[in-house]
Amino acid sequence: MKVTFLGSGTSQGVPVIGCTCQVCRSLDFRDNRLRASIQVELSNQSFVIDTGPDFRQQMLRERVKRIDAILFTHAHRDHTAGLDDVRAYNFMQKMDMPVYGTQSVLEQLKVEYAYAFMKDAYPGIPRLLLNLIDETPFSINGVNIIPLPVMHLRMPVMGFRVGNFTYITDANFIPDSTLEKLEGTEILVLNALQREQHVSHFNLQEALVMVEKIKPQKTYFTHISHKLGLHAEVQKELPSDVFLAYDGLQLDVPLIVNR
Ligand SMILES: [Zn+2]
Ligand SMILES: [Zn+2]
Ligand SMILES: [Zn+2]
Repeated sequence: MKVTFLGSGTSQGVPVIGCTCQVCRSLDFRDNRLRASIQVELSNQSFVIDTGPDFRQQMLRERVKRIDAILFTHAHRDHTAGLDDVRAYNFMQKMDMPVYGTQSVLEQLKVEYAYAFMKDAYPGIPRLLLNLIDETPFSINGVNIIPLPVMHLRMPVMGFRVGNFTYITDANFIPDSTLEKLEGTEILVLNALQREQHVSHFNLQEALVMVEKIKPQKTYFTHISHKLGLHAEVQKELPSDVFLAYDGLQLDVPLIVNR
């Protein structure tokens, strides 16, 4: 299984428009962060989790030739705003794009992309095939996926586990029932926004506490703000098995199929 970080930044991305802080001025490519999203490739399948406003740019950068399904964690705009560009895949693959989300996510997509759901739709609109999920495990073309309910202040968000790989973004609370589902996960991706407390995201300290609880072999932090600091400097402070993700980072995850 291969995981590619399409974006590792918080809702505004890094650099932030108009900001002149040292992170936003940094020449280190790892300090340039598009909005958070990953591609997961396994068993001849290519899945994308979230399509933020940088979706088009991310698809071009990583030369993504095929997407078999899109999974949504939640319906905040920094995770959904790029979905119109799925049209490229509708044309290439000659199919409606299967989209997976909870009831509230699918309802929000119907509002944001109302033109894609009109009866007498204009030609050339994005073509979406909505699939409703809840916390019940589901499979896409033979790949088993475990949804992981977490909380983002008051908003329920889904993380996803595939085999021994887990992706959780936009959380500031993980209930015990979800922690149980994380048992044995080897590679964890978790959001860590900044150093200061935040109302709806784990900060660095809280994310490290979660890592201590979950005990994966390796952890990658994502959904990072310019306020966290320079990539190279923050990385030096972290435990040896915890890393800051960066855009374009690829992970080879040995897949345990029977989970
Ligand atoms: Zn977000
Ligand atoms: Zn800045
Ligand atoms: Zn969010």
